[in-house]
Amino acid sequence: MSDVETTLRGPEAYKIAGRALALMERHQVWPTALNFEIWTHFVADPDGALARELTRLISLGEPLTELLSEELAATYLPKAKLNEQIRDAGDLLSKELESVSKAIQDAQKSNAAYGKTLASASKSLSSDDVATLKNVVSNLADATRRVQKENKSLETRLAESTAEVDRLRDHLEQVRRDATTDGLTNLANRKAFDEELDRACAEADEAGAALCLAVLDIDHFKGFNDTWGHQTGDQVIRYVASVIGRVAAPPRFAARYGGEEFAMIFPRENAAMVAGTLEEIRVEVSSRMLKRRSTNEDLGAITISSGFAERRPGETGHSVMERADAALYTSKRGGRNRVTAAESKPESANAA
Ligand code: GH3
Ligand code: MG
Ligand code: MG
Repeated sequence: MSDVETTLRGPEAYKIAGRALALMERHQVWPTALNFEIWTHFVADPDGALARELTRLISLGEPLTELLSEELAATYLPKAKLNEQIRDAGDLLSKELESVSKAIQDAQKSNAAYGKTLASASKSLSSDDVATLKNVVSNLADATRRVQKENKSLETRLAESTAEVDRLRDHLEQVRRDATTDGLTNLANRKAFDEELDRACAEADEAGAALCLAVLDIDHFKGFNDTWGHQTGDQVIRYVASVIGRVAAPPRFAARYGGEEFAMIFPRENAAMVAGTLEEIRVEVSSRMLKRRSTNEDLGAITISSGFAERRPGETGHSVMERADAALYTSKRGGRNRVTAAESKPESANAA
């Protein structure tokens, strides 16, 4: 098949075009762009496959319909079809690249290097040249891989950051625990207790609920230390703390308030309930015969005294604490190993 486009631009072009038009008129086909292309092929290449097939169809008396023209063009004008396919492919690629570019641009707006690649690619997209388009696609594929790799490393860094944040959070939580926990007993410390007392008082006011506060102190502990040593004394403090801790499930709150002194908050509990619990603690501690672990020596029993106060509406934590302390002092003065309620309700709980 000859190169019709070249022929049509040469000196013979008008003659060929004229003969093609004349033939279309003779065979009663409309001078559409497609028919013009077919009939110029017929004239320019009279021995070619298209001309031979068209001659055969005419001799058979086949009607030269538009459908027939399309079939002939599809079969015998492969070059035109190839150009069309290239154009279509180019358009599809452009569209595809445009959408990919947009998606990537959306996702990677901050990636300056990738932005450059896309800019130069979009310049080349107007080309019909397959090699150029291939090159563009290949460059974009490379760039995409780079971005994917970057995304992957970003992901890894993000995972690392998350792990680091988790670690820091755990560490902070540990620091917070350390700052609010007593090292010897693992109960809350005085600072945490004071904070919790303020919080519990505010909550009690808000709910119009009861709140009791207790202080507990080991009796004659100086003497115990003097006899058995400070280390054994520490073990006794731990033991008393464990007894207190067992009955201090939330919303109750227990703390080591000082050396051998403990404090407890009883939200929503009245004096009778609190007196009962403090009495349980007193009995449990006083009835246990202590032994020194290392030597199995009998240490005898220790006792604790406690005092508690039921908070009056609007009363400050500090004031309730003072009244509970006063009740503790009453327990000590009264012979120790007892529970005393604060002045306002003196009759509710005195146990020997
Ligand atoms: P009372 O019955 O009046 O409470 O007499 P007490 O001896 O317990 O009271 P005091 O306040 O006079 O003494 C408290 C003693 O508690 C002083 C100290 O030897 C002891 N102590 C305080 N903190 C610790 C501690 O962390 N470990 C040990 N082993 N002993 C402590
Ligand atoms: Mg004491
Ligand atoms: Mg004391």
